[in-house]
Amino acid sequence: MEFKAEITDIKTFVDKSASLQPHTRIYRMKIPEDIKFEFKSGQFIMLAMEDFPLRSNPKMLKWSSYSIASSQLEKTYLEFSIRLLDTPGFTNHLKEKAHIGSKISIKGPFGVFTVRPDAKRLMYVCTGTGVAPLLSHIRTLLFSGSTIPISLFFGFKNPDVYIFREELEELTKKFPNFKLEPTITDPGRTDWQGRTGIFHDFFPTYSFVGKEETDVYICGNPKMVEDIKTILPTIGFNHDNIHIEPW
Ligand SMILES: Cc1cc2nc3c(=O)[nH]c(=O)nc-3n(C[C@H](O)[C@H](O)[C@H](O)COP(=O)(O)OP(=O)(O)OC[C@H]3O[C@@H](n4cnc5c(N)ncnc54)[C@H](O)[C@@H]3O)c2cc1C
Repeated sequence: MEFKAEITDIKTFVDKSASLQPHTRIYRMKIPEDIKFEFKSGQFIMLAMEDFPLRSNPKMLKWSSYSIASSQLEKTYLEFSIRLLDTPGFTNHLKEKAHIGSKISIKGPFGVFTVRPDAKRLMYVCTGTGVAPLLSHIRTLLFSGSTIPISLFFGFKNPDVYIFREELEELTKKFPNFKLEPTITDPGRTDWQGRTGIFHDFFPTYSFVGKEETDVYICGNPKMVEDIKTILPTIGFNHDNIHIEPW
């Protein structure tokens, strides 16, 4: 399916400690009322802008993949978290040219990074904007009444770029089966009371419950994804229950 969606909300997160100040933005886009867009949490779509063609063929649009962060229960809008690069490319164009009211072309959905229907226990591991497909799973599961234990290990550089913070903290208060483990990697931050470090370092000593029956979904930085995929079976997780979304 292909249609145009209008940007209705943009939230910007700027890493104040970085010299180039990379931005992450959460974009909300309205699904036109005459479109019945169905997807499964974990899937992605492709985005394009009319004035951003392919470099190799200027007659064709450049389509780029983005995971849907909103719940599959939400029928009126789609939400995306996108890291906007300063190098020429689609995200830089999006940063400069897309505003509230701009129309963005969408096609999809695509992908199979969806929740296993018989999952008994879920563990999500992500970094940065990799939280998008996992948040879509979490929103859908919690708001459709799932009571299975769900944990989210969310790694990011520092609190400036802790996207979805308010909502995630709210979910932990509302749903006793949801556990949140935010972790920053920037050791110099004094405005952070939580965990600092990388998953790879603390996973071997962390008290996981029900490792063998846990389905693990991992998304984000490619090195983190590979490292975690490798380490989990060595600490008691079942290799067949590890699902990854490479970007
Ligand atoms: C399934 C999937 C889901 C994804 N989900 C997300 C998500 O939720 N959030 C997210 O942030 N990312 C996501 N990604 C990554 C995303 O698709 C892009 O790869 C990423 O946003 C890089 O954007 P870009 O603007 O640099 O890329 P591109 O436009 O692909 O450019 C790549 C590089 O090519 C060069 N280049 C491109 N165009 C030009 C030009 N006109 N002139 C000169 N140089 C040029 C630049 O060096 C640029 O950095 C996902 C990827 C996949 C496969």
